[in-house]
Amino acid sequence: MSDEAAAVLGDGMVGLFHYTLTDDDGAVLDSSDGREPLAYLHGHSNIIPGLEKQLAGLAVGAKLRATIPPAEAYGERSGPEAQRVHRRDFPKDLDIVVGATVGVRTPDGQQMTLWITKTEGAWVWLDANHPMAGKTLHFDVEVVGCRPATQDEQRHGHAHGPDGHHHHH
Ligand code: ZN
Repeated sequence: MSDEAAAVLGDGMVGLFHYTLTDDDGAVLDSSDGREPLAYLHGHSNIIPGLEKQLAGLAVGAKLRATIPPAEAYGERSGPEAQRVHRRDFPKDLDIVVGATVGVRTPDGQQMTLWITKTEGAWVWLDANHPMAGKTLHFDVEVVGCRPATQDEQRHGHAHGPDGHHHHH
């Protein structure tokens, strides 16, 4: 395993991969197309558990088609349905777009994050579930990088880009 050419993804390794994410109907939800490959530190929950599990043991050049059930992705939907709120009830400086998150305080003082899942005219829908909760996710992945994590990356628990020197937070 000291031979770098034989490196495979596993705990303590930084993996880089290109991906296309589709739903059950084949609609593209997300893709690294035209972007840098995604860098992650294996074993630190940087990516959803189901995908991390299936990447383990793969080397550069490997291609993976993975179907991930909700329980190993963003979880099942739970709690109440999305709530409809009037735009005037939002702070003026807030950018109201689908996919954005809003921090709110519950009546008992707890901080929680809600997702904007829909807008229509004056109305905005807020949902306590992640937009991908309840969805089975289909990944097409190509592994394009695999290297041991740097000490900084190990300490921070995330990858610092392709060569370990970029710092994203
Ligand atoms: Zn860091």
